[in-house]
Amino acid sequence: MQILHRFAESIQRYSEELSDPDRYRPDHCPQCEARRPLRAHGFYTRTLVDIAFDSTIRVRRYLCCCCKRTVSLLPGFVLPYLRFGIVVIALFLVARLLLGLTLKAATESAKLASMPYQRGQFWVRRFRQQAEKLCAALAVLLAPPAAPDFPSRALRMLESIGWIAAHRFLFAGLRVHLLGWPAFLAPAGRVAALSPVVPSA
Ligand SMILES: [Zn+2]
Repeated sequence: MQILHRFAESIQRYSEELSDPDRYRPDHCPQCEARRPLRAHGFYTRTLVDIAFDSTIRVRRYLCCCCKRTVSLLPGFVLPYLRFGIVVIALFLVARLLLGLTLKAATESAKLASMPYQRGQFWVRRFRQQAEKLCAALAVLLAPPAAPDFPSRALRMLESIGWIAAHRFLFAGLRVHLLGWPAFLAPAGRVAALSPVVPSA
């Protein structure tokens, strides 16, 4: 399971703060709710493409000694299961859906000139599917503005609130993903628990 914590918003600060396992150690397990601090359990690496960054970052993992499941602490500027950071996805979606730029021009305005256009179409498709849910969830923070459709309204709300602040609110409290969870993790970003198959004798 992935949770967010209060890491700095810059990749450099994040990397500096990551070295201390106590700094943001969860004091309880979000999966089984055991009231015991989790044990540091190493890192995994993931790729990240962001403004002026295209490399890997480390993500700290903790282990719950009660349920034996791991929790990873993602920085607030990445979206689970997406290689691109929130800032570049936001620039692209605003350019394409709010300003009405072509796919090519929207890609350039997000500083992603070499990106295949299919990836941008994929973001647009997922955002459109998710927009109505985002408007409803963000209405707690901001009165929904007038807009011709849900994607435009959601984009205006995200621009007003701030994308990363909105992502934190949606993810930490409601387990809502800005672009929707992949099907195998829907609806709340958790792998469905399946009972082990008992082999027949
Ligand atoms: Zn647990």
